[in-house]
Amino acid sequence: MTKRAAVIGAGLAGLSCARTLRRAGFFVEVFEQERMIGGRMATTRLGTDTFDHGSQYVTARSREFKAYLEEVAGLGYAARWNPRAQLNGEEGAGQMLPWYVGTPGMASLVRPLAESVRIHTGRKVHTVDRKDKGWHVWFEDETSVGPFHAVAATVPAAQARLLLGRFDEIAQPLGRVRMMPCWALMVRLEDKILPDQDVFSDMSEVIRWIARNNTKPGRSPRGESIVIHASPSWSRESEDAEPEMIAEELWGEVSHVLGLPPVRPVHMTAYLWRHGLVDQSLGETFIYSSDHKVGVAGDWCLGRLAEHAFESGNRLGKAIIESLS
Ligand SMILES: Cc1cc2nc3c(=O)[nH]c(=O)nc-3n(C[C@H](O)[C@H](O)[C@H](O)COP(=O)(O)OP(=O)(O)OC[C@H]3O[C@@H](n4cnc5c(N)ncnc54)[C@H](O)[C@@H]3O)c2cc1C
Repeated sequence: MTKRAAVIGAGLAGLSCARTLRRAGFFVEVFEQERMIGGRMATTRLGTDTFDHGSQYVTARSREFKAYLEEVAGLGYAARWNPRAQLNGEEGAGQMLPWYVGTPGMASLVRPLAESVRIHTGRKVHTVDRKDKGWHVWFEDETSVGPFHAVAATVPAAQARLLLGRFDEIAQPLGRVRMMPCWALMVRLEDKILPDQDVFSDMSEVIRWIARNNTKPGRSPRGESIVIHASPSWSRESEDAEPEMIAEELWGEVSHVLGLPPVRPVHMTAYLWRHGLVDQSLGETFIYSSDHKVGVAGDWCLGRLAEHAFESGNRLGKAIIESLS
């Protein structure tokens, strides 16, 4: 009989888990609350411009993730990015490893993982429960699907606790994890007014990162599309502020630290990643209860990088396969 698995969350962890399960012959359904897949590997369109307002680039240390990036690049969904930069006094952004970006946007990096998997977007999972025949996934409109033999929740730690907090073996370790918010600002300028560099990092207590998004391969070179990330501590202090006010404050700070002329952007949009960056990780690759056939995965299990999400999801998938074989 074909094994059925439900994956909650269509970020890198969820989709890498889904692909591992799919390749082992499982029937997999992925439930994603947003309209788009990719999670924090995100690309948004404002007018005619696209912005990567979450993850900026990815690097690979493990053999598996290197192989995956080569596969994605071979399909035309990723390319190397060599931004002009001077970070920590080193030319070339201090790149120890090659930087890859999705093309035409970061969200493209997950596309090959989504093939042959049934993905339902705009489906926020409210709860999961287990009856005699297996797991059922419930949504906010009180409809449900199931039964599934196993469930993988690949959502940020705080959301995993909401879904699975009643399982002690999952809830307790989840309590160790801390994630920080990050305000992202997307700015469109008519003219090129930034100094002659493509990325700037740790510019002040407020500004963590500035990138000329349009210098990434496959983006429109017209004008300037800039992505700014605030520091986690400033983002935490300003978590409840209005996005319009955040946009003004961050742009004022960027103008100040880069010494820009007083120019009004054509467009500015601020977005809060409420569970954006991992501050304290779990220190384990995933959590899985083989008694209950339910587990959790995400970048926060191992670290704060896309590669951690990929590995965590893949390894949870393998644990599910093993427990059901
Ligand atoms: C501002 C920022 C910059 C970053 N820069 C980099 C970088 O340069 N390099 C790098 O390697 N990493 C970077 N990262 C980290 C990287 O984006 C993450 O490590 C990776 O994308 C995490 O993937 P994930 O699948 O674990 O989680 P996510 O991408 O968060 O995926 C979880 C998914 O679950 C969905 N979800 C949550 N709750 C529910 C629910 N109840 N029902 C249904 N769906 C739900 C969410 O909508 C989301 O799509 C950055 C992150 C941020 C926020």
